This record gives sequence, C-alpha cells and structure tokens, in this order.
Amino acid sequence: MAEKREFRAIKGTRDIFPPDSSLWNWFEQAAREVFESYNFRDIRTPVFEETSLFARSIGADTDIVGKEMYTFEDHDLIELERQRAHLTMRQPPLGNLNDFGVYEREIQDFVDSLGRVTADGEMANTPENSKARERIGQFLSRLNMLQQQFVESQSTVLQHDYQIVLGNMIYSLRDVEFGDVLTLRPEATASVVRAYIEHGMHTLPGNAKLYYIGPMFRRERPQKGRYRQFYQIGAEVLGQSDAPAIDAEVLEMLLVFFKRVGLTRTTLYLNSIGCKDCRPKYVEMLREELRKVKDQLGPDSQRRIETNTLRVLDSKLPEEQPIIERLPRISAHLCDACREHFAKLKEELKLRGIAYKENWRLVRGLDYYTRTTFEVTAEGLGSQNAVCGGGRYDGLVELLGGQPTKGIGFAIGSDRAILSIQEGRKLPPLPGLSVFIAWMGAKTYPTAVSIAKKLRDAGLAVELPPEEMKFKKSLGLADKLGARYALIIGEDEVASGTFTLKRLADADQQRLSEIDLLEYLESERRG
Ligand code: AMP
Repeated sequence: MAEKREFRAIKGTRDIFPPDSSLWNWFEQAAREVFESYNFRDIRTPVFEETSLFARSIGADTDIVGKEMYTFEDHDLIELERQRAHLTMRQPPLGNLNDFGVYEREIQDFVDSLGRVTADGEMANTPENSKARERIGQFLSRLNMLQQQFVESQSTVLQHDYQIVLGNMIYSLRDVEFGDVLTLRPEATASVVRAYIEHGMHTLPGNAKLYYIGPMFRRERPQKGRYRQFYQIGAEVLGQSDAPAIDAEVLEMLLVFFKRVGLTRTTLYLNSIGCKDCRPKYVEMLREELRKVKDQLGPDSQRRIETNTLRVLDSKLPEEQPIIERLPRISAHLCDACREHFAKLKEELKLRGIAYKENWRLVRGLDYYTRTTFEVTAEGLGSQNAVCGGGRYDGLVELLGGQPTKGIGFAIGSDRAILSIQEGRKLPPLPGLSVFIAWMGAKTYPTAVSIAKKLRDAGLAVELPPEEMKFKKSLGLADKLGARYALIIGEDEVASGTFTLKRLADADQQRLSEIDLLEYLESERRG
C-alpha cells in the first residue's frame, strides 16, 4: 500500500474557501458593477503566454522577468530531454578515442532524433533549432579533428582549444528548444495588449475599455500580503487618444470602487515619468549622478544604476534615502507636452474632487510606463501596503507589433485590498442560507425533495439533509448553519398539505399552504 501522506497547498499559494470566498465574490461583483457603469467590458485571456511577450513588454532587466516568472517548455519529448541532460554532462577526454567514438555516436543519435521529431511535426522547425543542429554538427567535427591531431602530435596545447569547442558544443545542445517557452502570467496588461492587437480591436468604435479579474503568478518571497499566486482586478483603456481626462476617469473609477467596498483609508500617489522624448535624457542624467555616489549605495542599487536606473528611486534602504533625496527630479526635466499633460491631469482630478499626493519617486518597476504613473496604498497591511498600481503605456501596443496606440491601466491586488477591508471594519452582511428543510419520516421525503426544488427555483438558498435526522438534531444543525428558517415537514404536514415555517431568530412559527409559503418566502427574499 502506498505510504500515507498529507498534501498541502504549494508555498506562496492558498485556498480561498467559505466564508471568505463569499467576501471575494462580493468584492469582485462590486468591481464588475462599478467598471461596467463606466462602460468597461470584461476580457478573459489565457493564464499562460509566450515568455517573450512578458520579457519584451515588462522588460528584461526587471525583477519580474529576471527572477520571478514561472516558465516552462511546453512539449512531451521527455526521452529527448533526458538524452540531452545526459549529453550536456558528458566530458569525453582528449586522447581516449574509444570513449570519444561512443560520445560521437550518442550525439549523432540525438541529432538524428531531432531531425525525426521535427519531420513528424512534434518539434517546431524554427530557424533557431536548425541553426543549433547545424552548430552541433560543426562542433562535433571540430572535436573529431582535434582528437585526431592529438593522437598524431600528443601536443597538450590542443587541450585549450578542445575545452572551448566542447563548451560551445554544450551550449548548442542547450539551445535546442523542444517546444514553445511559456510563462504563467505575472500580470495581465501584456496579455490584454496582445489580445487587442490579435483581434484588431483598434477598428472598434471609440476606445477599447476592458477589465479583467484573475490569478497572476510571481515567484516572490511569500509574506503577509505577498503570494506566489495572487489575484488582480485590472482595467485598461486602449485607443487613439491620450487625453488627460481618460487618466482622470480611470482614477475616479478606481476610487469609486474602493469607496463602494469600504476601502477608504487609502492614499493615491501620482507622478509623471515623461515620454520617449524626455525620459531617456533624464535617465542619462540620473545615471551620471548615481555613478558619482555609487560607492555609498547598496549592491542592488549599484547594479540598477546600469540595468534599470529609475528603479534606484524605489529603494527603501534607510541609508540610501538622503542620497536619493538629493538626486535630480523628473518633474524639472519633462518636455513641454508631458508637462502640459500632467498639469491638465491635475486640473481634471481637481474637477472630480480627487485627492492625491505627488511622489516624484514613483516610477513603477516595469519598462512600459510613460507619463502618468500612480499607486494606491491602504492602511493595516504593513510593508506590503500597495493595493493598486498603474499608469500610462503609450508605446506598448507598437512594441508588441501593433499600430501606434495610446494606453493606460491599473491592477488592484485583491488579496491585499480584501485583507485591508477585513482588518479595518465590520463586513457587510453576506447572503447566507435561507431555508433548512427538517423532514421527518420516510413518507415526508418526496414532499421535502419537491419543495426544496421549488424554493431553489425561486432563488432561495436551501439545505436539504440527505438523510433523515432526529427533530432536535435537525433544528440544531439549521441553527449552526445560520439558516433564517427551518421548514418543518412531518407526517401531519404531509397529510394536511401544509408546511410549518419556523423563524430561527425568534422561534416564530406559522402553518402555510404551499402557495402561501412560496409567496411569503419570495417576498422576504425581495426584501
Ligand atoms: P504591480 O503591477 O506589480 O504594481 O501589481 C499591482 C498590485 O498587485 C500591487 O499593488 C499589489 O497590490 C498586487 N500584487 C503584486 N504582486 C503581488 C503578490 N506577489 N502578492 C499579492 N499581491 C501582489
């Protein structure tokens, strides 16, 4: 017999189950209602996409792409993968012709198998793969030549060349892609933009206003409010206009939603990080300044000076704060168009009565942002207090192969937003169980089944015990389940064609005919 073991949810993931799941549904339903009142419609995209979609849009030098993505090769060529793993470990020495002969045959065998699965269509016939196969052939004959030369000359200087060619051979083996390289989405903007382009949504009238709700995946260090599978609710506006009124409307919608769900102790932070005309100049200036103080910065910031300069401004290290505060600020280096856009956005926010704080260091981690960036923080969450992040991304559609298009969007972290709501206050009453059917005696069972169906058809939540229970136990369970009513069906009731309805809160009891019962409970439900 198999050893007994318990399974647990994977580190950084969790189950959302009753009663919390009702809260989640209520939260998501509120988002749907608010977003649809702003004429947004929902879009559902796959949870995995080509890795390069994320690498290209989010940026290769970001933490997400660099170290947090769940990436896998999608194929079923398990035997070939094993063969490759074995071959990349093999280091046949110079001078042992027998061993090298075996190695050559193994490589040849591997290359032949690649040819066969490519011809069968099991493996994609990509230019990269044919190049890799070609290189393997070339390196193999180079190795063969060096082996022959060594046998003739016994010259140890060949050792160096041999090692280099062997190394290149191993790289080429690794270059073979058995299948598509895919990633579980770490965020959804890239997917929405991909879908926008793929389905030609630019031909639709007006802007495309889309929202999504679903899980995202990032391999982060789990802690309170930070998970490896977490949930976002996001919205995107894509189209020809970049009017500041769009940014303002998106922010208004976000805050209306937060108010609706009782997330009120929040702060909106706002910034503009310029466009492709002014930002590079600013980043260059920032980099120059940072290089001057490099020695005083920690290793992360030192690295970011060269790889993702703006991210240095995100640093939370206490000793770096006074240095960062003295750095040049983007607001003084925006081009005229960006400065005007930002000023108009602030006017629009004033018009809508939206309070915000400017934060020149709010750059957001991802490469695709331009101009407007924003973040909302909430109380009661400790260090992971950002509940929403977003901004404008005017170049992204083009970067992913579409026509020049403007875009703006945000993503709310549902896990954190719900945590903050739960910490702060009394939760709204959620619809629970309406009727518990207390049937007694086998003869009453058909009546119980039939009335349960009718009540459910009328939209009531009904619990019908699958097995007969003693009267007291039955009412006890109804109470524990939080039912509003117990519907008592005994042999008396069946004989007289009536039902006894007991309100559990005050034990008020009435005898009703089926028609009166349905009418009474339905009017209750409608409130
Ligand atoms: P980002 O685009 O990374 O700023 O993500 C937007 C929002 O998603 C953040 O403000 C968080 O609320 C939430 N979020 C991001 N990563 C995680 C995570 N690992 N666990 C939980 N929530 C997250």
